[in-house]
Amino acid sequence: MPIAICCDFDGTITLMDTGKALLSNLTKEDWQAVDKFVINCQIGTREALTKQWGMIEHTTWKEIFTIVDTMKIDPSFYDFYNWVIEKNLKFIILSDGFQKYINRILESNKINTESFDILANDVDLVDNKLKLTFNTPECNHGCANCKYSHVLKLKEEGYKIIYIGDGLSDILPAAELADIIYARNNEDLAKKLEGDSRLQVFDAFSKIKKDIEKRFL
Ligand SMILES: [Mg+2]
Ligand SMILES: [Zn+2]
Repeated sequence: MPIAICCDFDGTITLMDTGKALLSNLTKEDWQAVDKFVINCQIGTREALTKQWGMIEHTTWKEIFTIVDTMKIDPSFYDFYNWVIEKNLKFIILSDGFQKYINRILESNKINTESFDILANDVDLVDNKLKLTFNTPECNHGCANCKYSHVLKLKEEGYKIIYIGDGLSDILPAAELADIIYARNNEDLAKKLEGDSRLQVFDAFSKIKKDIEKRFL
């Protein structure tokens, strides 16, 4: 059975969460309180993102990119990425962040974004306010970008699902659909799935590479 590696971006490939860094810098409002509603399953991430990004009253691309350009990729990701390309493995990035900054961060780190799909939300700037566009239809989970639907599609195509992630938006697709789950140590995904036999915690991609080789290749 072929494998598909489904990988989150913020806090998984990058060391920090770009969205959180942007919100922390661009609004004084309590955007963290909205995350709590998501954790308690009171609202979905579509409603949460709309609320949170709406808290930014006025911004510019210059301001946004100044923050985005400070984001760092996990140094262990480069070797992993080269290995994925060399082995010609199916690799996709699933993100509840925005296509624009994901491409920018990867490209400025010399990672060729043409070799895999990046499925994320879009954002534009209209009168200095952020305008979000979601690329999946509204779902029962209230997702912004429904990672579940993307992973389900791959599973239905016959792939074994390897899921790599860290946060709230990774819980549902990982828990429901993954054959193996690599979760960042000490973050929401790892905490929520503690005790699940498919769960492997990681702090470097070298560990994931070794484990995938052992299990699947
Ligand atoms: Mg994340
Ligand atoms: Zn969904």
